[in-house]
Amino acid sequence: MQKKDQSIFTKSLEFDDHEGVMYLRDESTGLRGFIAIHNTNLGPAVGGTRFRHYKNETEALQDALRLSRAMTYKCAAAGVPYGGGKAVLMAPKKITKHQKEIYLTAYTHCLELLHGHFFTGEDVGLDAHDITVLAKHSDSIIGRPRVGGMPARWAAHSVYRAMSVALKERFGSESFKGRVCAIKGLGNVGIALCALITKAGGSVIAADINHTRVRLARKRFQNIRIVPHTKIHTYATDIYAPCALGDEFNAVTIRQLRCSIICGAANNQLATREDGKRLFTRGILYIPDYVANAGGLINVVDELHKGGYSKSRVAKNVAYVATTVQQIIAGSRRQHQPTNDIADAIAEKRFHRGRARV
Ligand code: NAD
Repeated sequence: MQKKDQSIFTKSLEFDDHEGVMYLRDESTGLRGFIAIHNTNLGPAVGGTRFRHYKNETEALQDALRLSRAMTYKCAAAGVPYGGGKAVLMAPKKITKHQKEIYLTAYTHCLELLHGHFFTGEDVGLDAHDITVLAKHSDSIIGRPRVGGMPARWAAHSVYRAMSVALKERFGSESFKGRVCAIKGLGNVGIALCALITKAGGSVIAADINHTRVRLARKRFQNIRIVPHTKIHTYATDIYAPCALGDEFNAVTIRQLRCSIICGAANNQLATREDGKRLFTRGILYIPDYVANAGGLINVVDELHKGGYSKSRVAKNVAYVATTVQQIIAGSRRQHQPTNDIADAIAEKRFHRGRARV
C-alpha cells in the first residue's frame, strides 16, 4: 500500500529532491495553499507568491513544485546566494479586496513559521498594493514598492549584457552598430531594452498587441519599425528578443525563424526542452531565458543584503550575467550541446557545490 502511494506521489507530481513542502490551511479564513522549498544549498529560498484559482490541491502543489525548482536554477545561474522556493495560494473564483487582505494577512502567519528560510514577493495575482499589505505583517517580503529599484529596468540590462556576449560570439564584436534587433513585447522590459539598443547604435523592429505601448514606443524612438506581432519572429534580424509571453518556440515557429541569436526577457520561451535542440541544430544561438533575464531577480534579492539595497552592487551583479553567458556558450561549443542543457548543468553544478559563482 505504502509503495503504491509513493509511486503515485513521485510519478504524478514533479517532486525533484525538494527539501520540503508546507501545506497552508487556515480554518478561520479558508486559506489553502503550499510553500515549496526546492534547494537551499546556496542560501535561503526566494520565490514569488502566486495567487490564483486552482482546480484542486494537486494542481496547486504541482505549480509550487515546478516553480520552486525553476527558482533554484534561476538563482544559481544569476550567481546570487539564494535557493529556490515558491508559494501558491488557492484563490476562490471571486474575491473582494477586503477578503483578499484577510487572506493575505493569514498567509503572513504561515510565512513567520519559515522566518529567515523563505523570502517572497509579487507573482501572478498579486500587485503592489498586496505586497504592501504583506510587508505590513511580515519581514519575509521582497520587491516592496519604493525599496529596491525597478526590476524591469534591470531585467533589460541583463538581457542587453547577454546580447553583447552573443554578438561577440556570432560576429566577433560586441558592438550593436549596424545590428538589427527584433523585440516582441513593448512592455516595461521591452521599452527599456529598446532604449539600450538604440543608444548603442543598433536598430529595432518591434511588435506589441497593445496599441498604447506601440504609440509610446513610436514617440520615444523615431526610427523604430513596427511590424505585425504574429510575424515578427519571421523577419531577418541579428537578434530576436521575446519580451512578451512564454511558449514562443516550438517545431513550427523554429522553422520560420530568420535570426542569428535569440536573447530576450520572457520566461519559459521554449515550449519543450527538445526545442532547445532544434534551435541548436538550426545554428541559432539561444541564450536561455532565465539566464538573460536574471537582472530582475538580482535587483529584488539585493533588498535582503544586511546593509540594505545598493544600486551599485546590483549593477555589478548584473554585469556577472555576461560571465555566465560566456561559460554557457563556451560549454555549448566544447560539448556540442544545446545552450539550454549547458545552462541547466552549470546551475546544477553551482547549487550542488553550494557556491553561487563557479
Ligand atoms: P509587461 O506586462 O510590462 O509587458 C509585456 C508586453 O507584451 C505588453 O506590452 C503586452 O501587450 C505585450 N504582449 C503580450 N502578448 C503579446 C504578443 N502576443 N505579441 C506582442 N506583444 C505581446 O511585462 P514586462 O515586465 O515587460 O516583462 C516582459 C516579459 O519578461 C514577461 O514574460 C516577464 O515574465 C519577463 N520578465 C520580466 C521581468 C521584470 O522584472 N519585469 C523579469 C524577468 C522576466
